[in-house]
Amino acid sequence: MTSTLTPIQAFRSSLLHCVRDPGEHDANAVDYFEDGILLVANGRIERIGSAAELLPTLPNEIPVHDYRGKLIIPGFIDTHIHYPQTDMIGAYGSQLLEWLNTYTFPTEARFADEDYAIDTAGFFVKELLRNGTTSALVLGTVHTQSVDAIFNAAREHDMRLIAGKVLMDRNCPANLRDTPESAYTDSKALIERWHGQDRLQYAITPRFAPTSSEQQLKRAGQLAAEHPDTFIHTHVAENKKEVEWVAELFPQCRSYLDVYDRYGLLRDRSVLAHCIHLDAQDRKRLAASGAAMAFCPTSNLFLGSGLFDLSAAQSVGARVGLGTDVGAGTSFSMLQTLSEAYKVCQMAGQSLSVYRALYLATLGSAKALYIDDHVGNFAIDKEADFIVLDWDCTPLMKRRMQAAKTLEEKLFALFIMGDDRAVNRTYIRGECAHSRDSISTNSNIAN
Ligand SMILES: [Zn+2]
Repeated sequence: MTSTLTPIQAFRSSLLHCVRDPGEHDANAVDYFEDGILLVANGRIERIGSAAELLPTLPNEIPVHDYRGKLIIPGFIDTHIHYPQTDMIGAYGSQLLEWLNTYTFPTEARFADEDYAIDTAGFFVKELLRNGTTSALVLGTVHTQSVDAIFNAAREHDMRLIAGKVLMDRNCPANLRDTPESAYTDSKALIERWHGQDRLQYAITPRFAPTSSEQQLKRAGQLAAEHPDTFIHTHVAENKKEVEWVAELFPQCRSYLDVYDRYGLLRDRSVLAHCIHLDAQDRKRLAASGAAMAFCPTSNLFLGSGLFDLSAAQSVGARVGLGTDVGAGTSFSMLQTLSEAYKVCQMAGQSLSVYRALYLATLGSAKALYIDDHVGNFAIDKEADFIVLDWDCTPLMKRRMQAAKTLEEKLFALFIMGDDRAVNRTYIRGECAHSRDSISTNSNIAN
């Protein structure tokens, strides 16, 4: 893909990005240019600054993409999503364990069909881009071809994406089971095939403790030790009945989190979705191990799982990213996910500031995935993955923005009301990978 990158180009717009964690409230943790220039060379950030300062220094032949009136921010990074669940989003009426049996397992069984996997992966990647998500940590199914399909689809768009084959050898339908040995050898072959190819990285992916035997968890831990720069991706402490079940299955472990710790699955580059029903000792251990929590508010509300405690996670210094968790999550949109994250925090008497929300969806998620050397903000030489947001994408938003007096007020309303309609363009390494204009050209009812 590198041969197609534009040597040098400039983007003129309002520009906003996080330079560090804003914590509770720290407006200096972000850089903002009301009329700014983002200079991109061969897919990387070359310079960022005000138009008044940078425009006079640019040679005439450099193309300038004019997005004045809009806002450019780094692309969103989704730290937990299931691509095989695309076709079952919004499935009615159950909590986690019943939901898995009723909807998830039958849907995932369809990925035995390679054509279905390829078709779903192609749609999924386009849906990420339509929603302004430029990187994601993705679960496949137990089938190796599901992983080939998602990596091929991501590579087609030059995306920085992490994915892995689900490991499960018990407590699931027979047609979805692997074995401790095949889990090891299939994952190893996928690591050799994909890890480090272009912008792709591999995640060793036991679904969750109840569906892996001790022997399988052992083999997964062995694989993780043999490939320390791969990721580990799983779920923990999502639902109370699930937590009780894990206690029955692993009576020798102190807690659900301790199961992963015992099998060598808790380390840097481990990403654990949900982390709702953890105690203080778990949180400390998780943070100290270098693992990260994926906060998935739409999913946690949809399945009635519980409320993530962001303040408790912050107080132990844990890495926290934001995840949509489609298909228990109800939207691909990280804007909608931020809106629900704000409300989850409200329920706990916590206030998610607008800049911390921006951080969670961009640089914070990049740090959770250990990809912040490459993406997450507009630091010089990072890969130029970014999105152009449209403040005025619906009549109501246009009116609301006219009433807003400050950047913070506008941005907060955008986070609460926005969705895919607010994502005007998505750029991957400086190349346009999604344009909303091409969708709405022939329709005046696109909103
Ligand atoms: Zn999940």
